[in-house]
Amino acid sequence: MTAPIIVGAGWAGLAAGVELAAAGRPPLVLEAAPRPGGRARTLGEGRDNGQHLLIGAYTAIERLLARLGVDIDQAFHREPLALHVADGDEALALTEGRLPGPLHTVAALATARGLGPGGRRRALAFAAAMAARGFRLRRDRTVAELLARHRQGATALRRLWTPLCLATLNARPEHASARLFLRVLGEAFGGGRRRAELWFPRTDLGRLLPEPAAAFIRAHGGEIRTGRRVRSLLREGDRVTGVATRPDHHEGPVLLATAPWHAVDLLETLPDAREATERLRGLGHAAITTVYLRYPRHVRLDPPLLASAAPPSPWIVDRRTAGEPGWMAVVTSADDSGRDRATCAREAAAILAALRPDWPPALESRVIRERRATFHPAPDVDEQRLRTTDGPAGVWFAGDHTATGLPATLEGAVRSGVECAHRLLAAPA
Ligand SMILES: Cc1cc2nc3c(=O)[nH]c(=O)nc-3n(C[C@H](O)[C@H](O)[C@H](O)COP(=O)(O)OP(=O)(O)OC[C@H]3O[C@@H](n4cnc5c(N)ncnc54)[C@H](O)[C@@H]3O)c2cc1C
Repeated sequence: MTAPIIVGAGWAGLAAGVELAAAGRPPLVLEAAPRPGGRARTLGEGRDNGQHLLIGAYTAIERLLARLGVDIDQAFHREPLALHVADGDEALALTEGRLPGPLHTVAALATARGLGPGGRRRALAFAAAMAARGFRLRRDRTVAELLARHRQGATALRRLWTPLCLATLNARPEHASARLFLRVLGEAFGGGRRRAELWFPRTDLGRLLPEPAAAFIRAHGGEIRTGRRVRSLLREGDRVTGVATRPDHHEGPVLLATAPWHAVDLLETLPDAREATERLRGLGHAAITTVYLRYPRHVRLDPPLLASAAPPSPWIVDRRTAGEPGWMAVVTSADDSGRDRATCAREAAAILAALRPDWPPALESRVIRERRATFHPAPDVDEQRLRTTDGPAGVWFAGDHTATGLPATLEGAVRSGVECAHRLLAAPA
């Protein structure tokens, strides 16, 4: 039996690779970049391509890390649910309540400061209405429309819902799918306390998952080749039989685990993949800018996560959680501003100077702009997304863009990779 070929060593491709290797079908993984990790990777010197935050509801990642022998408590600095959003002289503070889950989130809303009594009541009524319908929506619309129907006022929108929507969907409420937003709320806040925990990686992203996953695949007889871009898919009749890199060819079933915009490049030459190509194109993309700012080592944010309600509503993470005291990551989601790096760095420093006037000036900055960080989660985007098995014969899809029901996240990527591996294993050889 020929080895499965995985195109792309992002978290989806690696999750699929581990699953296949563990099942006795060790794959050949071909990755264009010099290192595995994809959109959640280490650039070198411990610096990542952008701040990533996980939550306790990321159960597929937890299972994968357990299989790789990674200890969750060593891998993450874990904090109970807490949202702090600064808004001029005021702030929203939402911290976990003392009731058992999922009532702890109700208690968190009921005791939140910064929404006012009317805002709190309406936020609670909204949460109760969504929980009653299982966080599902029959007809999709924008998050802003859904919130307006449930009488969420300007303060709640600015201090609670917009920062949450940006952090989880990488889109502003007026552009984002309410269905996806509810799915996230249901996953994070509809279960036990642990699901709503915030998980800050303690190491760089490469050491967190890509490196242990690559080691596992190799130890189980698989191969990972980096710096190998797949140039085209090989065909026999209407079946895909392998891939071509330069100068090699590899035969085997193909698990396409690239981002949608790269999958398009490989699929568009296949006449019977026209519909899949169109749907992948329709997903669009959205940017994230991370500005790393260095302050003297004693400077710290307590708790380590803070958002600003002032547009562009960035989130700030204290990198002491990753063993880098003094470094702050300022993350701007859905950043379509086209600002140059120097402007990004200046604006991030100004945001922190306004939020923490007692801090000394930043000593150094690094700016990383991922222009295509995620697909754009427009309403009805779920109808565009491909299932694992929607490819031409011989091809299976994996990646955060597939029909996971989740927005573009690490958890979606890993769930899709695992599912894709199972589909491939179940297919007749
Ligand atoms: C700045 C930033 C911040 C983020 N923050 C969070 C967060 O806090 N929490 C969260 O859950 N998610 C976050 N995300 C989203 C998360 O990183 C992605 O959803 C996830 O990494 C996608 O993984 P993937 O495996 O589906 O795709 P990718 O990571 O894109 O992997 C695809 C791989 O395929 C390779 N490839 C492409 N074409 C070819 C080819 N022809 N031949 C060989 N290889 C190829 C690419 O090099 C890449 O390594 C963030 C993303 C970014 C960019």
